[in-house]
Amino acid sequence: MSQETIFTKIINREIPADIIYEDDDTLAFKDINPQAPFHVLIIPKQEIATINDINNENSHLVGNLYTVAAKLAKQNNFADDGYRVVMNCNEHGGQTVYHIHLHMLAGKEMGWPPY
Ligand code: AMP
Repeated sequence: MSQETIFTKIINREIPADIIYEDDDTLAFKDINPQAPFHVLIIPKQEIATINDINNENSHLVGNLYTVAAKLAKQNNFADDGYRVVMNCNEHGGQTVYHIHLHMLAGKEMGWPPY
């Protein structure tokens, strides 16, 4: 399923965002409502609505999200202390924007379980 969301507008520079990483397939920008000192969203440029829409054709784009997370962790000195990456799916998962995104949260010790 492909559907335009606010994240496509960010990719297309139609609305502003604090973009911290970009390559041909992936974009990372600061979350507008940060839940940790460092909270970025790492997204594929291709519109993939939810985890349920990941398949063999697009899964490399999802792998890239983790590669970028590892890169950002090293660049920002979070690799050793650690950090959290989370992807929410649909209502029970807490998803509000239907364009998959990896939340990367760092800069404090996280609690578990989340709720
Ligand atoms: P989720 O609830 O997992 O779908 O996460 C959506 C995230 O997108 C939330 O953490 C929001 O704060 C964030 N968000 C929504 N709109 C924007 C925006 N325009 N720029 C940056 N982050 C946004």
